Amino acid sequence: MIVIENATIATVDAQGTEFSGGHVVIGDDGRITAVGPGRSGLAEAARVIDGTGHLVTPGLVNTHHHLYQWVTRGLALNDTLFGWLTTLYPVWGRLDAEIVGAAAGAGVGWLALSGCTTTMDHHYVFPRDGGDVLEAEIEAARKIGVRFHPTRGSMDLSRKDGGLPPDHLVEETDEALAATEAAIDRWHDPSPDSMLRIAVAPCSPFSVTTRLMEEAALLARRKGVRLHTHLAETDDEEEFCRKQFDCTPVEYAERVGWLGDDVWLAHGVHLDDAAIVRLGETGTGVAHCPSSNARLGAGMARVRELLDHGVPVGLGVDGSASQEASHLGAELRQALYTARLRGGPKAMDAREALRLGTIGGARCLGRQEHIGSIEVGKLGDLVMWRLDGLGHDGIDDKVAALVFGPPARVELALVGGEPVVERGELVNADEEGLTRAARRAHQRLLDAER
Ligand SMILES: [Zn+2]
Repeated sequence: MIVIENATIATVDAQGTEFSGGHVVIGDDGRITAVGPGRSGLAEAARVIDGTGHLVTPGLVNTHHHLYQWVTRGLALNDTLFGWLTTLYPVWGRLDAEIVGAAAGAGVGWLALSGCTTTMDHHYVFPRDGGDVLEAEIEAARKIGVRFHPTRGSMDLSRKDGGLPPDHLVEETDEALAATEAAIDRWHDPSPDSMLRIAVAPCSPFSVTTRLMEEAALLARRKGVRLHTHLAETDDEEEFCRKQFDCTPVEYAERVGWLGDDVWLAHGVHLDDAAIVRLGETGTGVAHCPSSNARLGAGMARVRELLDHGVPVGLGVDGSASQEASHLGAELRQALYTARLRGGPKAMDAREALRLGTIGGARCLGRQEHIGSIEVGKLGDLVMWRLDGLGHDGIDDKVAALVFGPPARVELALVGGEPVVERGELVNADEEGLTRAARRAHQRLLDAER
């Protein structure tokens, strides 16, 4: 049993309940048994943590990422999405299991240090002689200790067929579908406490055939897993869809069976009013990635309108090659700033930003019954942020301090009551070791080019 006392607690429940000087108790089964004001009265608990000067929130949920990109950060720094992809595809074509494992270890470790307790990954590059890259990232994430939702991505539309990726980087359609089904059978754990769930994730309209999109949706529904893809990220993609399919990206998604409450889409930047209404009506989620959208100059998502139409919206850092910081805690502020740049200061407040990063993300991943808020019966996934230092002290509203202030240090991050970060350090891995392994992988990848 773990007890946290004397902390400010933002539960992010439906009423937005908060306690200053409150307690949270996590039982031996990894679930929350109590949350409330004042002391817990459980001085005999195995571990009592003093939360004075700290804010406790639900653990952050990352809804879009490409972990392998950790080892290709800092390249094509001034390009649009299509230019950036065209530069990086050949480098990614040399990925193998060792490189992906090192990248995922670094990427997931960094996410945990930035307050993330559940992350997805969108992996869609499977070089023929690269070994089992999906297994490599699953093992890396397991070691760090966060809840993991890797997706089996795919690309089957290359340049010779009018797509963007080079021919050697794509798979055959049936081969991709068979490998996706095998990944679900091997890894997917649907249990409520699951640490590992697979979703089906063809990459994007400009790298995937219509047949793969349609059959991927059928496969996911037959298997009872979720669907994810990139959609409406850039003007270039909009133009591609108009030319190839004579419709908008969201109309295309609907045509291929890709709207529904079992789908969440990365980005959703370029959406017209009709598209936002359809996403709301169908319960289709959006992974909002404001830093990546800014880094690539892709645009600013209409998050206020999405929320007003009931669309589930979570936050994503997106791949580390298009968003080198990859800090999920910092994405709270970026989301707030982006909403305000579009819609003025009333467009989003600190608490709504925190909702996006927690329960909003849980809805995107279909886990809202068990994670995303601090409530009795939910899993003990939470973060204790240190807010009594120079960067935050004096901002009396601690939720505002977390969101408006500089990225806060994670004093403690728990996943099912198990510490994964303590005193700002990873519990199950060594940050320096992860850094060294990722640097070696980066070097090996770039040396191979020369
Ligand atoms: Zn992405």
